[in-house]
Amino acid sequence: MSSILKQTYNDVEGLKYISPKIAMEEAARCLLCYDAPCSQSCPAGTDPAKFIRSIRFRNVKGAAETIRENNPLGGICARVCPYDTLCEKACSATKIEKPIRIGLLQQFAVQQEKAYGMKNLKVSDTKKNKKVACVGAGPASLTVAAELAKAGYDVSIFEKEAKAGGMLTYGIAPVRLPQEVIDYDIEQIKNLGVKFNFNSKVTKEDLDTFDAVFVGTGLWGENLPNIEGINLQGSFSAVKFLKEFRKGNSYFVKDKNVVVVGGGDVAIDCAVTANVYGAKDVRIVYRRTLEEAPGNMREFVHAFERGISLTTNMAPVAVKGNGSVEKVEFEGFRNKTDNMTVSADIVVFATGQSSEAKDLGLFSDEYINEKGLIKANNTNITGKYFAGGDVVHGAKTVVEAVKAGKEATVAIINYLERKN
Ligand SMILES: Cc1cc2nc3c(=O)[nH]c(=O)nc-3n(C[C@H](O)[C@H](O)[C@H](O)COP(=O)(O)OP(=O)(O)OC[C@H]3O[C@@H](n4cnc5c(N)ncnc54)[C@H](O)[C@@H]3O)c2cc1C
Ligand code: SF4
Repeated sequence: MSSILKQTYNDVEGLKYISPKIAMEEAARCLLCYDAPCSQSCPAGTDPAKFIRSIRFRNVKGAAETIRENNPLGGICARVCPYDTLCEKACSATKIEKPIRIGLLQQFAVQQEKAYGMKNLKVSDTKKNKKVACVGAGPASLTVAAELAKAGYDVSIFEKEAKAGGMLTYGIAPVRLPQEVIDYDIEQIKNLGVKFNFNSKVTKEDLDTFDAVFVGTGLWGENLPNIEGINLQGSFSAVKFLKEFRKGNSYFVKDKNVVVVGGGDVAIDCAVTANVYGAKDVRIVYRRTLEEAPGNMREFVHAFERGISLTTNMAPVAVKGNGSVEKVEFEGFRNKTDNMTVSADIVVFATGQSSEAKDLGLFSDEYINEKGLIKANNTNITGKYFAGGDVVHGAKTVVEAVKAGKEATVAIINYLERKN
């Protein structure tokens, strides 16, 4: 197999095809560092040094195995990781010219895995007679489920939505992460025998029969500003806005004026999505300066190149319209006498998400901090309950959720082994 690399996906929308030639050329630039700083900088331990070495020697099966064994969401991470601040930032080749494109090589290996129908996640022959529940089907829970199922445990996931993936499926913009990529990684986890229960909000009693419970419910509360007109038709939170595109509804932005409020990566994603799907004008409005914005500067530049504009130092004070959005009023964030009114058909508030852990009804207030996040000591909350991902560490990234899931798995297995 190593010498006949398959031509993989067609170049359909968003599914970038990486040719074997490009992958081989890129892998050939790797300096094969002894201490591999790239691998040390991957939160999930995906071990890029090892899989790049395999690609370099045309052992694509070995590369795919390394990725999948270390990171059950390797295909997704290859698309959405902020590589330029993690593995690629650490790459030694940066000192000579530019970093190895690790994300691209990871995508290539996973595309080859799919093209050949490789099955790189395997269940242990030794079955453990223990049942574990995962609440939520986001990346943290999916990782716990995959790792525990691999180790022979009986795992059930309870998810309130109709599909698995959490913010992968309902948050991250489809232009960045195609649904097919999400579905493929999740399919590998389903093949391990993990049971998925959708449209399912569990109670404490439902969880009585499980030996351990992992809570990975993320941040699903909306942080919308308390201003006039926030509920007008055409006013969206970022997640509600992006969810429409996952449902296949993109026509609602065509030829429209779209204003996105926020300065993070999510705001940029919403703006680029609106632009890609034919909005007439897209403007990001952020309350501080560009230098202070948390969004990735490379992504901002990409947005500007597409014709998206940015207005800084302005905060929204009202959304106006007769039933639906017609304009948004802003005032200076630092200088309150400044003001600005922008015509808009759609306004998107990319102003963050909050935790709803308190409403789960699973534990008392002493286990919830002042931000509504779950207090977990080394991923353990209390007794058989464990937690991880955004609901514990606040808004981070997919690869950090995978890391949290792997750490929780170790703690859960230790707990279950101690009980034996
Ligand atoms: C719009 C947006 C764009 C992003 N873009 C990126 C990106 O480009 N790159 C990146 O690395 N990260 C990105 N992130 C961050 C990333 O998506 C999160 O850090 C990650 O998904 C957190 O994983 P999680 O498993 O902790 O939670 P989530 O992904 O939020 O999953 C939690 C799951 O729990 C379910 N749930 C909640 N309550 C219950 C309940 N009571 N019962 C049952 N199920 C429940 C939810 O429905 C959800 O499926 C983005 C986030 C957002 C919001
Ligand atoms: S999982 Fe993400 S951070 Fe880790 S090696 Fe892959 S692209 Fe880099």
